[in-house]
Amino acid sequence: MKQFTYLTPKTLDEAISLHVSHGERAKYIAGGTDVLVKVKEGKLAPDYLISLKHIIGQDRPFLNQETGELYIGAFCTHGSIEESPLIQHHYPIIHDAVKNIGSVQIRNVATIGGNLVNAVPSADGAIPLIALDAKANIYGTKGQRSMELKRFFQGPGQCDLEAGEILTEIVIPAPLPRTGSAYIKHGRREAMELPMLGVGVLLSLEKDMLTCAKARICLGVAAPTPFRALQAEKHLEGRTLHESNLSEAGRIAGQESKVRDSIRGVAWYRREMVGVLVKRMGLKALERAKESQK
Ligand SMILES: Cc1cc2nc3c(=O)[nH]c(=O)nc-3n(C[C@H](O)[C@H](O)[C@H](O)COP(=O)(O)OP(=O)(O)OC[C@H]3O[C@@H](n4cnc5c(N)ncnc54)[C@H](O)[C@@H]3O)c2cc1C
Repeated sequence: MKQFTYLTPKTLDEAISLHVSHGERAKYIAGGTDVLVKVKEGKLAPDYLISLKHIIGQDRPFLNQETGELYIGAFCTHGSIEESPLIQHHYPIIHDAVKNIGSVQIRNVATIGGNLVNAVPSADGAIPLIALDAKANIYGTKGQRSMELKRFFQGPGQCDLEAGEILTEIVIPAPLPRTGSAYIKHGRREAMELPMLGVGVLLSLEKDMLTCAKARICLGVAAPTPFRALQAEKHLEGRTLHESNLSEAGRIAGQESKVRDSIRGVAWYRREMVGVLVKRMGLKALERAKESQK
């Protein structure tokens, strides 16, 4: 493995200034579960690895009591998100996703920021956050900027970050009342495997507890980037939610997806499974929305 110098800045500004000084010879590292694999395989050969793990803050989810927004620092490990009672009780779609990432050892070091910046179509962390209409806060030499997370992904392995910029946090708006959500990672096994498909569904109900006020259907590994099945969402909004509507939304989502053949699954099977899993997650989200009122 190529030798590199490991740098440990204590602030965001220090990290950025190190990145500016070393330019393309430097790479940020958080948990290292993606970066170090690539360095070992010779796909990356940085002279400097700039650690983000020594920067104080941004390592626990917290709720802004005034606005109801949830902040998830980019340096939060999947393990810290999985163990957060706030996530367990109020954001089950995130919990569904992070609890099955890698293994306990991976989740204890791998971060949500690294998962998003890595930008692979199979990133389990991305789907629930897009379904929750999350925004990404980004900090760089020009200061802070914010963007909708759904626009962050530009292609496999590509995201909207300029050289030296750091993803600092994810901000999730307060959910509507009577909301339920669910995510499933579909593959041959649940752990230590990237998903063949990732499907997240969020449903908010009107006061009658029957009509869909808002629907989010978000798919991973069904296109080059995580994406929302907008036509399927439109099919549900304003309609009474029941099994056959959710089934039809699944069929539409399958048609919208741009699945392809790969070693983990063939396109026709993936398209069929989008239909099955959208319906299944829709029913689970509906059940959770109803439970939230008890
Ligand atoms: C055995 C194994 C199993 C895995 N299983 C899964 C799985 O089930 N599901 C899944 O989605 N992934 C899985 N992964 C992939 C990986 O663990 C995740 O993508 C993880 O969240 C990456 O986070 P990290 O902190 O380790 O990133 P790192 O490896 O430290 O960094 C990844 C990339 O992001 C950049 N970066 C990191 N943080 C920031 C930041 N805040 N701002 C700007 N740039 C940043 C780095 O420069 C690098 O390009 C697995 C990996 C392994 C090795």
